[in-house]
Amino acid sequence: MASPQPRSRNAPGAGAILQLIRTGEAVTRADIMERTGLSRSTVAQRLEQLVSRRLIVAAGSSASTGGRPPASFAFNPDAGVVLAAGMGATHSRLALTDLDGRVVVEESSDVDITQEPDAVLAWIEERFLALVRAGRRAPDDLLAIGVGVPAPVEHATGTPVSPPIMPGWDGYPIAERLRAAFAVPVLVDNDVNTMAWGEHAINWRDTPHMVYIKVGTGIGLGIVADGRVQRGSDGAAGDIGHLAIPAAEGIRCVCGNTGCLEAVASGRAMAQQLREQGLEARHSRDVVDLARSGELIAMNLVRESGRLIGEALVSAVNLLNPRVIVVGGDMAHADQLLLAGIREAVYQRSLPLATRHLRIVRSVLDDSAGVIGAAMLAIEHVLAPDVVDERLAEEEAARAASRAAS
Ligand SMILES: [Zn+2]
Repeated sequence: MASPQPRSRNAPGAGAILQLIRTGEAVTRADIMERTGLSRSTVAQRLEQLVSRRLIVAAGSSASTGGRPPASFAFNPDAGVVLAAGMGATHSRLALTDLDGRVVVEESSDVDITQEPDAVLAWIEERFLALVRAGRRAPDDLLAIGVGVPAPVEHATGTPVSPPIMPGWDGYPIAERLRAAFAVPVLVDNDVNTMAWGEHAINWRDTPHMVYIKVGTGIGLGIVADGRVQRGSDGAAGDIGHLAIPAAEGIRCVCGNTGCLEAVASGRAMAQQLREQGLEARHSRDVVDLARSGELIAMNLVRESGRLIGEALVSAVNLLNPRVIVVGGDMAHADQLLLAGIREAVYQRSLPLATRHLRIVRSVLDDSAGVIGAAMLAIEHVLAPDVVDERLAEEEAARAASRAAS
């Protein structure tokens, strides 16, 4: 086999062609030549690289092309798998998915994230290995790992920074540890960012501007703008739960401040307010159950919390002008009770131009948003053009070395 032709710095490589095929922007040889400006022989050689790595397959049957080289190609989501973990405060979901983010095998578990990170990571490693076995995949098929954790994460290093609910994890090198164990790239992000990304990648891919609000034990915002998750310069963007609001004045929050939205409108805060009124409510889910069963105090509380969350969202709507607000987290199970409050405040208070096309909907992926988003984060990384080109070059070098040695 001929060695790959050297390519100039800016000429599109096989990775860029894979991207065109995967997004459906160009799937025929002719379209790919037109989009990339590459010659017929260079396109043929790049396609051959992608076919031999099984990243693409010929889309037409050989009969339809009369034995000529296939004219069009399709992305092959079975070219590899990724492992993903959506870690919550008390509940976690792990999955092995194909390269479209479709679940091959998954499991969920009650895991206390406040434990020492070594214990939790050892458990994740063990379960990940079990998932690869259960999915009947060779270890070589694993291309990357994605992890979402309920903590602020420094994006560049994949390290939690001063996490309020998992203090033992401050500075813990999650990505480094998993990379050492599995020898693949590891992407770590805040749980709300992974949820936003999962919901966007699966249900709102054609909607470049979206925000995802998680209302669970805490409250967080994931921002997708121009089709990308926006993390801000340090990974702290979207911390809407600790915005100061007048209704929370003087009320202490888990973050140490007073007056935060989360201190009055989170599932944790609602459960506490119900307990003070003599009702039995320990978690967000209890609040939802009470409200759905028609308990008037709980119904009013959920609706009022929705209004407060909506008022905080007005700032996000006016600043970011999203097309859709997706509401997720345990409290989203209160459905219209919560959504009605949010809608009322957002539509009343936001600028007319910003709300003209705005939709406010419940999360479709629900409890799976975090793990699917973590998988999509890993997938987008391994299929990024430069990462694909690098991997193909490494594999080619390894083959050349083994040929030279034999
Ligand atoms: Zn706070």
